Amino acid sequence: MRARIRAVIRSVAFSALGALALAGCASIDYEPVATQSTAMPSVPAPTTEVSSGVDPAIYLNAPRAPLLSQLFACSANNSNIGPISADRASLVYTPYINTAAGALLRDPTEGACLSSGFGWRARGETGSNHTGIDLANPNGGFIFAAGDGVVEYSGWQGGYGIVVEIDHGRGVHTFYGHLTDINPSLHQGSFVHGGTAIARMGMTGNATGIHLHYEVSIDGLKVDPLNYGAPQVVQVNQSHDQPIDAPPPTQTQISAPPASDTKPDTSAIETPAPSSQTLPTAPAAPPQPPATEPFQVTPGDDGWTPGKSN
Ligand SMILES: [Zn+2]
Repeated sequence: MRARIRAVIRSVAFSALGALALAGCASIDYEPVATQSTAMPSVPAPTTEVSSGVDPAIYLNAPRAPLLSQLFACSANNSNIGPISADRASLVYTPYINTAAGALLRDPTEGACLSSGFGWRARGETGSNHTGIDLANPNGGFIFAAGDGVVEYSGWQGGYGIVVEIDHGRGVHTFYGHLTDINPSLHQGSFVHGGTAIARMGMTGNATGIHLHYEVSIDGLKVDPLNYGAPQVVQVNQSHDQPIDAPPPTQTQISAPPASDTKPDTSAIETPAPSSQTLPTAPAAPPQPPATEPFQVTPGDDGWTPGKSN
């Protein structure tokens, strides 16, 4: 099971490599390169309207979040990824961030590569602070709630395009940017279970490629989703150029669900077994499902202010 998940991740990363030059958030002082979106011809153009015309069946039939514990650099030396970018190695990490609000997914995608890391991004003599991580996949795919929580905002937000913000309680928030669309059943105040598909990866707003901008905020401080909490992330000296056990493409291809009436092919994605692999419930979570006030939600007073750089 774990091996298969890893294989899926690997193959996604491999397939992403060829087409993906650079997918990342563009900061204000950085002009997005318009031509880069044309390098991914198989991907339908993302909409710019929030939740408009989204077939609810896409989300009703969506898989649950896979537990990802390995992440490849999308390409070498193109961003602030650090040694894994230079070496084209991968990161191995625990799938969860442990927080006061319970466990959060470090990587809430179906499978992606790391196109930009957390922290300072140099742009020549200047730069900007990247307050999240960018997880890219030219095929898009679902974005999952990192943990149980309440939707505090869903809609358009400037350079981040279509976004979702989730309040997990106890000062813990997650933010998902550049989405293509949002699960139409989600609204402000909706309770969402961790691992539920909330949106699809896109490039709305100020973005140079199809990716998720993912932020985790704890008591108002934005933290690195890959490095927060123990144990530390481990770099693995395994190159993209030397795939070891990549399974056949037909078994592992992850593609964004079609926008029409066809059911998404969920067979390619391992869904976690209910007993051992489901997302742990947060300690503060209410009896489930739908509760009217699952958390002591105090929107607006927790310092959650997405930065200018995205
Ligand atoms: Zn970003």
